[in-house]
Amino acid sequence: MAERPPGERVRDFSEVDTGLSSGEAIAEAERCLQCRKPSCVKGCPVEIDIPAFVALIAAGDFAGAARVVKESNLLPAVCGRVCPQEVQCEGQCVLGVRESPVRIGELERFAADYERAHGILLPTRAEPTGKRVAVVGSGPAGLTAAAELARLGHTVILFESLHEPGGVLAYGIPGFRLPKEVVRAEIDQLRGMGVSILTNHLVGTSVPVSELLSFDAVFLGTGAGLPHFMGIPGENLSGVYSANEFLTRVNLMHADCFPEFDTPVRRAGRVVVVGGGNVAMDAARVARRLGARTTLVYRRRRKDLPARRVEVARAEEEGVDFVFCANPVRILGDQCVTGVECESMEVSGIGGSKRPEPVPVEGSRFVIEADMCIQAIGQGPNPLLVRMLPGIERGERGNVIADAEGRTSLENVFAAGDVATGAATVILAMGGAKRAARAMDRMLRGC
Ligand SMILES: Cc1cc2nc3c(=O)[nH]c(=O)nc-3n(C[C@H](O)[C@H](O)[C@H](O)COP(=O)(O)OP(=O)(O)OC[C@H]3O[C@@H](n4cnc5c(N)ncnc54)[C@H](O)[C@@H]3O)c2cc1C
Ligand code: SF4
Repeated sequence: MAERPPGERVRDFSEVDTGLSSGEAIAEAERCLQCRKPSCVKGCPVEIDIPAFVALIAAGDFAGAARVVKESNLLPAVCGRVCPQEVQCEGQCVLGVRESPVRIGELERFAADYERAHGILLPTRAEPTGKRVAVVGSGPAGLTAAAELARLGHTVILFESLHEPGGVLAYGIPGFRLPKEVVRAEIDQLRGMGVSILTNHLVGTSVPVSELLSFDAVFLGTGAGLPHFMGIPGENLSGVYSANEFLTRVNLMHADCFPEFDTPVRRAGRVVVVGGGNVAMDAARVARRLGARTTLVYRRRRKDLPARRVEVARAEEEGVDFVFCANPVRILGDQCVTGVECESMEVSGIGGSKRPEPVPVEGSRFVIEADMCIQAIGQGPNPLLVRMLPGIERGERGNVIADAEGRTSLENVFAAGDVATGAATVILAMGGAKRAARAMDRMLRGC
């Protein structure tokens, strides 16, 4: 898929990828072998009928392809853009053994974009059941559960604490990877299906728990938005941000356009981002777009980076510097950040986390000058509501304990997505939510 050149795209927040043309999509779809037992479908947590929609693209029936995708996935334009396809559907494609796999994600995006441009078709709804379901959180998990439950005929009220629905899709992933109009268009389908989306409703405070538990069933999709910090000296200095806060300020509150919008963000000349996942790459690329010289510090080696390869490559193309095998030990400054003191790490063996273990190298400290430090070292489940639910079983990391179909220790309360699994991916959250919604439906119908 074509992409905008780094020198141009680093100056704005418009999308990097430009999408496939009809001819490119047909040519790519024609590569599909139409396997009788398609392993790609097994690699997709929402089980899209991949061979069927790819065949329709090859035949030039783009609306038909979009219809097939939508039978299993309400958010195809989102998934086509941010799914880690290389380890999901495309990772299972048999063509990948000898050549490159069929670019399923790009084709899914193509079909979804075609549908958006030519009129969106809504899934048909079953007869109303008269049951009322509350969904808390409007990230991929909550949106998927709400869509599935509405489709099955239940009345769904979706509560979201922020002023805009979408969860991480709205506040975390920047517009140059996932344009906000794409997210809004996919969410609008839910409204079209009769789901009431109540924003600015923080369940546990503005909506009491007693009201929540008065619904026939409850789905918790409250995500993992509680940032972890390193716990090193200097973290209280002005200019230290969690990646979540930094990205929310820019993506959701438009701090890049301050004072036109009310929320500011520090305009730093030099930024250090700590971490090696997708969140770290997003923070670093946003910092570059705000004009900062940006260094990403990661404690393991390049090959250990958990971020998608494509995002690492793009961050580098856009001028992000990488320092590998280094770990911050102190943030320097008086009131404001002036630098980040790091020490070098040696990486060897497999540690308790089942990943290569970084060990500090004695006498190896060095300083990277910076006036901002963004920590992107992970997030835990949002604790507010979960702590207020009487008797709900939680894991060591604060996650809700739920089985494969989302059942929690509380009757009628289901959970899926990051609040249950810990920080994971969009499609895993959606797959879990879909299974939970079906189990909720069975429970509500008493079968
Ligand atoms: C910056 C960033 C980049 C990422 N990039 C990728 C990527 O490229 N590909 C990928 O697959 N995954 C990516 N992820 C991970 C992915 O976004 C998450 O796994 C996914 O969003 C989890 O979905 P969720 O619905 O469980 O939670 P979330 O998306 O976190 O949504 C939870 C929602 O619940 C709301 N909420 C919480 N508590 C309450 C309450 N008490 N009352 C009302 N509302 C509440 C929150 O405001 C939020 O909107 C990224 C994550 C981040 C942070
Ligand atoms: S939703 Fe994700 S895993 Fe499923 S087919 Fe699309 S890109 Fe692949």
